[in-house]
Amino acid sequence: NSATKAPPTPSPLRFSKYFQSNMRILVTGGAGFIGSHLVDRLMENEKNEVIVADNYFTGSKDNLKKWIGHPRFELIRHDVTEPLLVEVDQIYHLACPASPIFYKYNPVKTIKTNVIGTLNMLGLAKRVGARILLTSTSEVYGDPLVHPQDESYWGNVNPIGVRSCYDEGKRVAETLMFDYHRQHGIEIRIARIFNTYGPRMNIDDGRVVSNFIAQAIRNEPLTVQAPGTQTRSFCYVSDMVDGLIRLMEGENTGPINIGNPGEFTMMELAETVKEVSFTLPASPPGHEFAWNNFSLGHIEISTLLHGWLYFQCAGFIVLLINPEVEIIGVENTPDDPRQRKPDITKAKELLGWEPKIKLRDGLPLMEEDFRRRLEVPREN
Ligand code: NAD
Ligand code: UDP
Ligand code: UDP
Repeated sequence: NSATKAPPTPSPLRFSKYFQSNMRILVTGGAGFIGSHLVDRLMENEKNEVIVADNYFTGSKDNLKKWIGHPRFELIRHDVTEPLLVEVDQIYHLACPASPIFYKYNPVKTIKTNVIGTLNMLGLAKRVGARILLTSTSEVYGDPLVHPQDESYWGNVNPIGVRSCYDEGKRVAETLMFDYHRQHGIEIRIARIFNTYGPRMNIDDGRVVSNFIAQAIRNEPLTVQAPGTQTRSFCYVSDMVDGLIRLMEGENTGPINIGNPGEFTMMELAETVKEVSFTLPASPPGHEFAWNNFSLGHIEISTLLHGWLYFQCAGFIVLLINPEVEIIGVENTPDDPRQRKPDITKAKELLGWEPKIKLRDGLPLMEEDFRRRLEVPREN
């Protein structure tokens, strides 16, 4: 009988949510590439408290060093395959290796991370009444038979291949999310992330953009895996983080594709890395080594040491070419999807989101970060 029922006592967490509109947010995998950029954005809002849980398999404390010791920030070494007891309002669940060489390294662990890890985070969401966002992947479409891929496509995935621990793991994670939503009323959000790149990617994690940039900086040949005509669509990390936050804050469960529809073959990507556009002020480091300057209309061309060419216009470098960068063909790995491009109609309509950074603008930002970490200044 409701007349005799005690009124519900708000927990400190609920109190903080409704009376101060503070948010306590858990980011699993927050020490990784996308996770650490997401943490940066969440920490910009003074009403957010952020807890990161990460086992540092592919992530690093270094990615979060500017927040360590901050009163609104907490970092926990934790493996999501183990239960986690924290009190939070939102969960961004990213924990999972994303690069093929890392997720294939211990495939059983990868599938446990996807299945048991997601189950634990859903159990946590259920206990505390938190909203949970899963970073799923375009890999759920497998080697797609429809192009571009929209969210209604069920995919073409090999269930027993070497990529299956990741692809099928994420598919089960999506299933768990929807079952907890239907069975327990959990508020869920699912993002299907397409290839993302930017500063802080692991330098040697084997993904194509990080490989090509590191190879170009080290003056090694760019390794295009056969046949080179396979396509991917690359999203800059700041656009990705913006999309994830909009999805979390919006009213739609998803799944929603978040990615950049600009599609490139791997051969085109290698060519683009070879010819990276710059808009830097004149006289970059090493410019004093120019041994030949000539003009072509408004364009001034300088030939530098090691064969680099700078094209300048009105005092700005507009193009830099290193003719010595070589492109070679190498063998591919099994089950490599032949084409991939997101249909982002849903993200545009439901989240008002679309990517802003073009590949040619994002690559130099990543190159700058890689040069700093590899300690190879631009004049080399
Ligand atoms: P990343 O490898 O840089 O980050 C993953 C983080 O999860 C790392 O910090 C790692 O240490 C942590 N982690 C791994 N297993 C864990 C476990 N069992 N317990 C706790 N922490 C664990 O990868 P990323 O590129 O930042 O990817 C983040 C998420 O986005 C992943 O879920 C990935 O599947 C998804 N995603 C990424 C891309 C992409 O192109 N980067 C594409 C599709 C989906
Ligand atoms: N779980 C967790 N943190 C919590 C609550 C649950 O890690 O705060 C884990 C729990 O250990 C369990 C999983 O989430 O393995 C699923 O929890 P749920 O309550 O849905 O299922 P049950 O415990 O009844 O199997
Ligand atoms: N790839 C390549 N050279 C490399 C690494 C990867 O040509 O050094 C290709 C790979 O065959 C695939 C594409 O780049 O077709 C994207 O691979 P990545 O591992 O970056 O991401 P995913 O396959 O998960 O999309």
